[in-house]
Amino acid sequence: MRALDRGWDILKGGGPAVTACEQAIIELEDEPIFDAGVGSHLNREGKVQLDAILMDGATLKSGAVVAVERIRNPIRLARLVLEKSEHMLLAGYGAEQFALEQGLEFCNPEDLITEREAEIWSSRSGAANFGTVGAVALDVNGNLASGTSTGGTLYKYPGRVGDSALIGCGCYADNESSAVSSTGHGESIMKVVLAKTASDLVAAGKPAQAAAEAVIALMSRRTAGRGGLILLDRHGRVGTAFSTSNMAYAYRTATASGLFDIGP
Ligand code: ASP
Repeated sequence: MRALDRGWDILKGGGPAVTACEQAIIELEDEPIFDAGVGSHLNREGKVQLDAILMDGATLKSGAVVAVERIRNPIRLARLVLEKSEHMLLAGYGAEQFALEQGLEFCNPEDLITEREAEIWSSRSGAANFGTVGAVALDVNGNLASGTSTGGTLYKYPGRVGDSALIGCGCYADNESSAVSSTGHGESIMKVVLAKTASDLVAAGKPAQAAAEAVIALMSRRTAGRGGLILLDRHGRVGTAFSTSNMAYAYRTATASGLFDIGP
């Protein structure tokens, strides 16, 4: 709910959708329970490698970073790439160089590791997985934005990049259609280019909720992985669907709000 309030405050004050998404995601990255920022899953080497993206539906430009190890809030760096770089995706060393150039401070890579994640890693239980965070927003000027941030999958191969920070897979925003953020098994989401596929269905006339359900059905039919998404169309209509056992999400519109953490 804190993330929702933080994003909503921006929108209420007439602020841009990209800022609302960025601010909501910062709150979620700072919350150790999620697999993003502090508290992310550890890879095979016991390290945290983070991916994040922010997309502006007005320009179709996105800013993304992957496999960064020294950035506490990778969504802040994604915002800088979105606004200050001619490129859309920077990886590892280059992304961290860019952070330094832009005056973003490095954190100690160990600061991102929580006791809980270190225990999960050493017990090799593999029980806890997923927990990517995301946000979608529509501002008073009719601009849509979306963002996604993740620590990726537990025990991932060093340098593995999932769907989350890939435009069209873990995130998509187009003012003419919708804003989408997805979560779940990255390699499966990439196969069906989930976020862009959902956005295309909305552009073709499908209602927000029906589009969300249709892409999850497609993912179940064509892949062995599970996933979920949040979607917001250009009229402010919300769609959510998931095939994972649960997916926590919250939304607020001018007339309604809700917080959900339920299984199918
Ligand atoms: N989609 C993320 C990834 O594969 C994981 C997740 O959503 O939890 O990196």
